[in-house]
Amino acid sequence: MGIGVDIIRGQAIQTIGDAGHLERLNIMTDSRKAAADSLFVPLVGENFNGHHYLKQAIEHGAEAAIWMEREPLPDKIPDGFPVFFVRDTLAALQNMAKSYLNQVHPKIIAVTGSNGKTTTKDMIYSILSQSYRTFKTQGNLNNHIGVPLTILSMPENTDVLVLEMGMNHFGELTYLSQMARPDLAIITNIGESHIEYLGSREGIAKAKLEIVNGLKKRGTLIIDGDEPLLDNIQTNVFQIVRCGFGDQNNWRITDVDESVTGSRFTLNKQTESFHVPVLGRHNVKNAVLSFAAARILGVAIEKIRYGLEHLSLTKLRFEKVKGLNGSVLINDCYNASPSSMRASLETLKTLPGFEQRVAVLGDMYELGRNEEALHKSVAEIVKAPLTHLVTIGDKGAWIAKGLQEIGGDETLEVHVYPTKAAAQPYLESLLNDKTVMLFKASRLLALEELSGKLRAKE
Ligand code: ATP
Ligand code: MG
Repeated sequence: MGIGVDIIRGQAIQTIGDAGHLERLNIMTDSRKAAADSLFVPLVGENFNGHHYLKQAIEHGAEAAIWMEREPLPDKIPDGFPVFFVRDTLAALQNMAKSYLNQVHPKIIAVTGSNGKTTTKDMIYSILSQSYRTFKTQGNLNNHIGVPLTILSMPENTDVLVLEMGMNHFGELTYLSQMARPDLAIITNIGESHIEYLGSREGIAKAKLEIVNGLKKRGTLIIDGDEPLLDNIQTNVFQIVRCGFGDQNNWRITDVDESVTGSRFTLNKQTESFHVPVLGRHNVKNAVLSFAAARILGVAIEKIRYGLEHLSLTKLRFEKVKGLNGSVLINDCYNASPSSMRASLETLKTLPGFEQRVAVLGDMYELGRNEEALHKSVAEIVKAPLTHLVTIGDKGAWIAKGLQEIGGDETLEVHVYPTKAAAQPYLESLLNDKTVMLFKASRLLALEELSGKLRAKE
């Protein structure tokens, strides 16, 4: 495992110590996490400087280090310890990722979009790993550091690499895409996340489309074909495959049947159906985007069906758990934006067999100047068959305010709480075997701490 020392040497302006005995090294950027046979790559952030932790890195298994030439080297390092001096450690990390990709040369699928990246990546992995040696982004490591780290941690014999690519600003996806040079690129949807930096939904669409800037010639772009902002993509260099519910799509979702265990659907009105064990129409779309990618790589329909059916997803994404008194709790509190909150609420409305449908919604961050209006916009869809809206936090309260302003559904019980602890007794009083309760807010709120208190005792 690990990358060859030749790639590391390729970065160095100067080397000290003895690197002759080294062959392959794993990458370590966090000196607190032990990693045997590793190359310590100290990064410099706003609040930290990895160069201060060389001693700790060596204690945790570093066999060599890359070093920014302007940073002083500590006095006491072991005799002969190899240090490769570079101008910039982050640039070195990214360049090593490019060199390693050229060596391993896997097929690359890059997944971006406002919501659904991690889910789609996990679905693609579940399908492809039956046929190919597949490696994917672990968790959510999707930025300018996470993407190169993912690349550098893939095994040498990888056939297909599935990379999640996130972004907050213009230019970031161009950079990531040009680093990875994907064969297939996917845009799951255009929402409102990071609108703070991108100005408008049009801005977001433009920024997501940067993913084609590194797409290989004759590569394929797979998109949410229901999104009007992605209608007019001009190209004669790559193919476009559209997926979604509308008639204009190449892969059209037909006959959706949603239940508490997931969704069954057909494609292009064909008779054979697929099932995904996750809730919500947005996940049907994620499944079809994954289907499209797998078909381009030549995976048989049967394998796609099996992969979708046997999916295992990262926690806290529409995760169903047993609540007190026979109730059902849905933890969708990994993160939230207005579009993902709306998708979750629509799903909550469709779950069959419940008399009380309770939406517990909290603050959403990084929404910029229009944050109040964006919270209020969620209120438009807060209506029957939902029965209760419970908001948590100052920003979350805007959703209730929005509902009041539009003179929303009068049958709805609305409660506003400043904190999770304040809401707990009321939520507990609602739980019975006819209740489903959804928890959704930005990561910072950690709503799973609240839902955890309402879980059935094992
Ligand atoms: P992050 O930017 O935090 O990495 P992500 O893009 O990886 O997010 P996921 O973690 O897959 O997204 O999903 C987050 C939430 O977004 C889900 O729980 C769900 O509520 C919503 N979501 C998922 N897929 C879609 C979709 N295609 N359209 C709209 N909302 C979606
Ligand atoms: Mg993600």
